[in-house]
Amino acid sequence: MIKFLDLYKINQNYKKDLVEAFERVIDSGWYIMGKELKKFEHDFAEYCGVKHCIGVANGLDALILIIRAYKEMGVFKDGDEILVPSNTYIASILAISANSLIPILVEPDILTYNINPKEIEKSMTSKTVAILPVHLYGQLCDMKSILEIARKYNLKVIEDCAQSHGACDQSSIKAGCFGDAAGFSFYPGKNLGALGDAGAITTSDDKLCETLRALLNYGSLIKYENKYKGINSRLDELQAALLGAKLTKLDDETEFKRKIAERYLEEIKNPKIILPTVISRNAHVWHLFVIRIADRQHFQEYLTTSGIQTVIHYPIPPHKQQAYKEWNSLSFPLSETIHNEVLSLPLSPVLSNEEVTTIIEKINNYSVS
Ligand SMILES: *Cc1c(COP(=O)(O)O)cnc(C)c1O
Repeated sequence: MIKFLDLYKINQNYKKDLVEAFERVIDSGWYIMGKELKKFEHDFAEYCGVKHCIGVANGLDALILIIRAYKEMGVFKDGDEILVPSNTYIASILAISANSLIPILVEPDILTYNINPKEIEKSMTSKTVAILPVHLYGQLCDMKSILEIARKYNLKVIEDCAQSHGACDQSSIKAGCFGDAAGFSFYPGKNLGALGDAGAITTSDDKLCETLRALLNYGSLIKYENKYKGINSRLDELQAALLGAKLTKLDDETEFKRKIAERYLEEIKNPKIILPTVISRNAHVWHLFVIRIADRQHFQEYLTTSGIQTVIHYPIPPHKQQAYKEWNSLSFPLSETIHNEVLSLPLSPVLSNEEVTTIIEKINNYSVS
C-alpha cells in the first residue's frame, strides 16, 4: 500500500535532530516559556518575514486568539461579521463562532478553491469587520485583491496559514505577512509538523502581539496580575525545540513536493480528472494535491484496490454540518460541488519516484466500468 502520508518515515528523516532537541529540553530542566520557544518564535518570524511570531497550543487557538485580541482591543465586538470561505476546514469558521462573531460564508473560485474576491464585496454588510482568507491546500489566495478590498472598507485581514507554510507571491512575500495577523498550525500532518499539537500567530502589530501574549497566558503579562480573562494556550519548550529542528528543512521538503506535484500535473492524462490550477510556482506549497472527479467514490475504491491510499478534504461542507444547523438549508453550489468531487492524492517528502510513477499509471488506466 502506498500510504497517503507516512509520518513515521517523514520523522525518521529528522530522528537524530529530534532526539538531540529532546535531550536538550530534558536536560535544561525548564519546560514552559523558555529559550527554545524564544528561539523558535524568532526563527519562524524571520522565516515568514514578519516582526512577531507568538507560539500557541494549536492552529485553532491561533485563530481564536487573534479574534479575541481584537475584541479586547475594541476593534471587534459581539455580533460583528467576518467573511470566510464556504469550503474551508471547519476550524477557520469555529474560530469566529467561538468569539460570538458571525461567520459569513463566501463562495470560492472554482479553479483555485480559494475565496473569490469578486464574491467578497457582495457578502459585505455594515457589520463586516474582517476577511479571513484561507490559503487552502497550500496555495496563496489572491491577496492583492483581498487587501485592496480590505483597505477600501477598513477591514482587518486574518490569514489562515495552517496549510501554507512558506507559500510566497511573485515578490517573495510569504503567507503570514499579507494580513494584519495570521494563524499557523503545526499539527503533525501539516507542512511543518510537530510531534503533537502546536501552532503560532504571526503579526507585525506590536499592540496586537502584546495583547496576544497576555491572552494565551491566563490574560497575564506580569505574573499573578491578570489584565484579561485569558486562557492557557502556550507552545511548550519540547514542541518548540522539535519544530526548530524541522524548520531548517522545510523549504527542501516543499521543493521536493513541488517536483512530485509537477509530475502529477504533466503526466496525469485521464480526461475524467480535473487537475489543480496553479497560480504561480512558489505560491503553492502543496500541503495537499487535490484533484476532482465526478464519480469519486468509484475512483477512490479503484485506487484503494490498486494499493493507493487517498483522503477526501473535506467530505462535508461547513454549512451542511450538524454543528451549524442554522445553515443546513442554505445553498453554496460551488462549495457543494467541491466537497462532492475532491480527492487528495499521496504527496509527501518521502514518496519515491517509483511510487509516483505507479500512482500516475494507475490513474491513467482508470476508466468507467
Ligand atoms: C489544520 C487546520 C486548522 C487547525 O489547526 P489545528 O492545529 O489542528 O488546531 C485550521 N485551519 C485550517 C485550514 C487547517 O487545515
